[in-house]
Amino acid sequence: MERLQKVLAHAGVASRRHCEELIAQGHVQVNGKVVHEQGIKVDPATDKITVKGREIVLEQHVYYLLYKPTGVITSASDPQGRKVVTELLVGVKERVYPVGRLDYDTSGLLLLTNDGDLANKLAHPSYEIDKVYRAWVKGVPSQDKLKKLATGILLEDGMTSPGASKLLKTEQGNAKALIELTIHEGRNRQVRRMCAAIGHPVLTLERVRLGFLTLEGLRAGQFRALSKQEVDKLK
Ligand code: URA
Repeated sequence: MERLQKVLAHAGVASRRHCEELIAQGHVQVNGKVVHEQGIKVDPATDKITVKGREIVLEQHVYYLLYKPTGVITSASDPQGRKVVTELLVGVKERVYPVGRLDYDTSGLLLLTNDGDLANKLAHPSYEIDKVYRAWVKGVPSQDKLKKLATGILLEDGMTSPGASKLLKTEQGNAKALIELTIHEGRNRQVRRMCAAIGHPVLTLERVRLGFLTLEGLRAGQFRALSKQEVDKLK
């Protein structure tokens, strides 16, 4: 559900300010009834909205799961002209934006949508969605340090909330280890800072799961639309 004036503005009727005037002047109807008050919430997918008798056509909500490669910025545009994730969504006409962000040098699962409500909901820490990362780190963390990653680490911006961690494998005579970390927050460079804090800096980082969504069937740079069932499950 979105505020009526926002929906009108998104549909290109006019600026948000002018849309408020159109509402105040009684030019806007929702499901056949004139609306005078500002701020009522409508569902762009199901409500019939008219302005001066003409029905407005709304952009459908779309949801994509991208396997972000490294070397791409999680943003809809970059002032420095670097490659951004939305450029990878070849053929997608809707103006989508990323839900949360992955660092330039992090790969993995990224959702993109034009559904502001769902984006806000997923990004909110109270939603507690699992964010699962696989990181190659320098050296091999002890069980004690892995436990610390899971229970909470004091970073500059406070304690991390509880999650999970496990050691998956080691390589090159214990020079590096692959660990899996589940967190529920999305602070800036959080996994990198957590691993650095226990003395095992991240070498490479990939997000492999978000809630029930995985990268299955995709290669880096590829994307797919979420199914209706997947979208409903996320909501
Ligand atoms: N944590 C990080 O440090 N980087 C990311 O891109 C995501 C989580």
